Amino acid sequence: MKLIIAAVSGIATVGLLWVFFRPPFGENIVHLNTQQRIVALTFDDGPSPPYTEQLLDVLAKHDVKATFFMIGNRVERHPETVRRVIAEGHQVGNHSYSHPVLGLLPPASVRREIERTDALLRDIGVKGEIVFRAPILTRFLPVAWVLAKRDRAHVSGNVWSWDWTTQNPDKITKTVLRKVKPGSIIILHDGKGVYGNAIRLGTIAATDRIITALKREGYAFVRVSDIRH
Ligand SMILES: [Zn+2]
Repeated sequence: MKLIIAAVSGIATVGLLWVFFRPPFGENIVHLNTQQRIVALTFDDGPSPPYTEQLLDVLAKHDVKATFFMIGNRVERHPETVRRVIAEGHQVGNHSYSHPVLGLLPPASVRREIERTDALLRDIGVKGEIVFRAPILTRFLPVAWVLAKRDRAHVSGNVWSWDWTTQNPDKITKTVLRKVKPGSIIILHDGKGVYGNAIRLGTIAATDRIITALKREGYAFVRVSDIRH
């Protein structure tokens, strides 16, 4: 009997943890809905001058559009950078207001973090769908719950560049090119989450090389909302 109770409570604990960390409801977009050689470049944690601007120059040189998941308090600090991102035809998404470990906060705080940045982005001129990505991809129960109630997807990705651990452009380029496939959502960083500024020259150089290599292989680049999810 004791053994059965232990087994049942063990299974229940694993089940609860599973539901918390991998909620089985709401939409989590991991890749684009296509079999074709199409990928989405996504940049998190900006706007972050001068790196965001340098990145925009690289994207413009290749005539490639990308998606920027921005942090609200950085949008407040660098509105000019945001305006340039919009003016150059890129998509702007919401990456919370202050980049907390969002998935561990209560739903009311999650809602505030998302809505505050939505409002900032609307004020500055973002039109259409505002896609959302949780900091550190913590789409845990409170985040999934708040998003599902609004019928809003979470945009994750399936190619991690690991550019938050290295700014060596060779490493970043190799990591991305090794993992990329049709429909990939590639995660890069033009800024840094909580502690503000970080040098992003490696990411910028790698982006230039990644685009060149993938174009040679026949890949096209889209914004996350260009492909119906
Ligand atoms: Zn982030």
